[in-house]
Amino acid sequence: MNDQTSHRDFIREMVAADAISHRFGRPIRTRFPPEPNGFLHIGHAKAICLSFGIAKEFGGTVHLRFDDTNPFTEDEKYVEAIRTDVTWLGFAWDKELYASDYFEQLYAFAVRLVEAGKAYIDSESEEEIRAHRGTVTTSGTPSRYRDRSVEDNLDLLAGMKAGAFEDGAHVLRAKIDLAHPNMIMRDPPLMRIRHATHYRRGDAWCLYPLYDYAHCLSDAIEEITHSLCTLEFKDNREIYDWLVREVGFERPPEQTEFARLNLEYTVLSKRKLLRLVNEGHVAGWDDPRMPTLAGIRRRGVPPEAIRSFCDTIGVARKEATVELATYEYTVRNELNMRVPRVLCVANPLKVILTNYPEGHVEELEAPSYPHDVPLTGSRAIPFSRALYIDRADFMEDPPKKFYRLAPGREVRLRYGYLITCTDVVKDASGEILELHCTYDPLTRGGNAPDGRKVKGTIHWVAATGAVDCELRLYDRLFTQPNPDDVPEGQDFLSVLNPESLIVVSGAKIEPSVVRDPAGSQYQFERMGYFVADVPDSTPDHLVFNRTVSLRDSWQKERAKASNV
Ligand code: ATP
Ligand code: MG
Repeated sequence: MNDQTSHRDFIREMVAADAISHRFGRPIRTRFPPEPNGFLHIGHAKAICLSFGIAKEFGGTVHLRFDDTNPFTEDEKYVEAIRTDVTWLGFAWDKELYASDYFEQLYAFAVRLVEAGKAYIDSESEEEIRAHRGTVTTSGTPSRYRDRSVEDNLDLLAGMKAGAFEDGAHVLRAKIDLAHPNMIMRDPPLMRIRHATHYRRGDAWCLYPLYDYAHCLSDAIEEITHSLCTLEFKDNREIYDWLVREVGFERPPEQTEFARLNLEYTVLSKRKLLRLVNEGHVAGWDDPRMPTLAGIRRRGVPPEAIRSFCDTIGVARKEATVELATYEYTVRNELNMRVPRVLCVANPLKVILTNYPEGHVEELEAPSYPHDVPLTGSRAIPFSRALYIDRADFMEDPPKKFYRLAPGREVRLRYGYLITCTDVVKDASGEILELHCTYDPLTRGGNAPDGRKVKGTIHWVAATGAVDCELRLYDRLFTQPNPDDVPEGQDFLSVLNPESLIVVSGAKIEPSVVRDPAGSQYQFERMGYFVADVPDSTPDHLVFNRTVSLRDSWQKERAKASNV
């Protein structure tokens, strides 16, 4: 793991001060609390980099705690995916813990709160409770059960735990203030009955804590010092502090909120990601177009790029949306430094070098890295009479600024020779079948001894040894920066990008890649960064995912569009 020096954001400033003053009387301890109801996404990566990063930087510890208090949506498969993704991102947790292991303790705390007159059992229905909460401008109305005796409350609570009641028959509520300006503080529900099978606890337990009850007390049980979460929990901080205090924790953890990551052209709500998966708009949680860490990994983005991205965007108190260009820049930057270059032709057009000896094949030496990259190495690429160039690199009737191949024009084949187009061979319908060219044998390596200038350089693959492959050209999943900004009555699915995946079959790639296992990465010169797909790429059928193009083509297209 390359050590990135993280910027001193407001949270790190705070933790540093608390570490120096020994504010908590114990080492720094953070936690990352995912609910196992979906895969982790790049927003979670921001939270992980922060909480894991801080624990590491301040010599503390960090817990991976599954916030698994909802039996309806959670699943072991998500637990496994989350472990895989956090590990892939380059982090290790000191302990793996489960909120569902605290049910007994949370029950004991409930008894304590009831005994202290700080909580009661309400038997109003969910609708009644909601209706009696009041509004921002009007106070709520106390439930007719609010003044139950401690004995009655304890009896009911025991019955709730024992399974004596139906779902919704009773609920445990904090006894705070129904006129509280913070709506969350108006006697919030703490535990409710749910007769459902929990993926870990099975049917053994039917009294489930709500988020506000489970989260703060789990933090306190684990002796967390800094509980870092996103801004939408700002209003929940008051109940957090109330509960840890009333239950009696000394030097309880403190919650601090930071702005969640929003990224252009991306949705990061698990509910929406789940819809994309369930409704088949993508191939699964690990579809390379998904902002999930599983999708990002399959797309070929290295974990270093995600960490570096999180470091670049920093941590602030104010919500903002990060430009996709910032993300892609980080990815390119990281890949540029580590991946070898190869030649691949997406849309092959056959070229016959009419003056090249029939049956002859020579090996050309091609550097695998440009000179400004710290890696070195080269590979041999075959050169033969028949080769492929990309259809886009030839125009029969080119405009002035087209410097690639055209009838009578000379171009440089990258690492190869200078060639001149002499003939265009077409079928009866006028479709171009192949080009006839001559090569200049004195220009091996791409330079003319007479110093004549040749502007264009194109990539190519010799027909001899060329390997067929499939390219999956991935692009942003949505057509507009904010996919939620849609007219009334529509939703984010109405702005799905129909061209987010273009499959190109019959591309030709140089033979040096064939032996490489799935997962290997390259820059296809002039095209972008690609990774052999896991699991679809096999030695008999190579499949490459485009991780990122070499340049931001959308910027260019947008600029073009605004110029006309
Ligand atoms: P949902 O979309 O279901 O509300 P969630 O994204 O909040 O879920 P959790 O599993 O509860 O998912 O999240 C775990 C942690 O990750 C939380 O502490 C949350 O604050 C943080 N987190 C979630 N989304 C982002 C985001 N976009 N940026 C930064 N942190 C995030
Ligand atoms: Mg959440």
